[in-house]
Amino acid sequence: MLQEIQQVAQRVLQGERITFPEAERFIELESWPDVLELAAQATRIRQRFTGDDVDLCALVNAKAGQCSEDCTFCSQSARWNTGISTYPLMDPDQIVARAMAAKRFGAKRFCIVTATRGLSDRDLPTLCEAVRRVKEEAGIVPECSLGFITEEQLRALKEAGLSRYNHNLETAESHFPNICTAHTYQDRLGTLRMLRAHGVEICSGGILGLGESRRERLELAFALAELEVECAPINVLNPRPGTPLGSAAPPEPKEVIKTIATFRFILPRSRLELGGGREVNLRDFQAMAFLAGANSLIIGGYLTTHGRQPAHDLQMLKDLGFTV
Ligand code: SF4
Repeated sequence: MLQEIQQVAQRVLQGERITFPEAERFIELESWPDVLELAAQATRIRQRFTGDDVDLCALVNAKAGQCSEDCTFCSQSARWNTGISTYPLMDPDQIVARAMAAKRFGAKRFCIVTATRGLSDRDLPTLCEAVRRVKEEAGIVPECSLGFITEEQLRALKEAGLSRYNHNLETAESHFPNICTAHTYQDRLGTLRMLRAHGVEICSGGILGLGESRRERLELAFALAELEVECAPINVLNPRPGTPLGSAAPPEPKEVIKTIATFRFILPRSRLELGGGREVNLRDFQAMAFLAGANSLIIGGYLTTHGRQPAHDLQMLKDLGFTV
């Protein structure tokens, strides 16, 4: 197996693509020596294509809860009784203050997130002002994650200074109906294609641990490769009380590490961003994710859960040899 991993890595380093059957063999690996070799080769691929630079992204939950959609993992859906605090859209001053704080603790990017099916025209001016001021006043790269948007809304956000938009595919197309019925995978894909058509960078990934098979994880990765996403966030389910997945069992650290390494083979040039659920699921293996191909990190907490102190993350990345 070690030889096969090295041979496939060599081909990827030369610009070829890994095949689905090869990726399937990798994601089925069970022994630590095999997984460590996979991680080592994923690190070579990461270094070749993206160097030792790491992206640090912070989020603000600018509008929390009461979402109309029924995503089974999400504590912000109005359909589940999760007891989270909900609030309407923040004003630009509040968003900019959060962006400034994020810059102080080391973030390079700042993503404005709203818990909505899609962006309303009523909220558009506030968000455009927030994007413009995050860029100009806070001096940090603004991103948005506002659900479905129209071409006109996207044009307005772009004009305000937006260059990257987050819209996760969440999981494989074949598994999507099991985690959401209020909208479809194709709806999401349509938004991503529109972003590409408008020259906006794509941040799109998913969540491990939604009941998907290993094969379905690969389906997601290959779909992201086809879209040539600039950044692929990889979250690991942190089961939220009150949601349908509230008592699901998330994958073990070795499974997550192996999946990240395999994703690096499939997405050699993309940022692989370690996102929500890393602290509770990876525990002492968080650094290992960066020795398996990850090269981006969400720092400073998530939408409805806290993360660890940014200083710990910065020290970890420095110790790993990344340029912070
Ligand atoms: S659309 Fe987003 S905010 Fe709404 S339920 Fe789904 S994941 Fe949560």
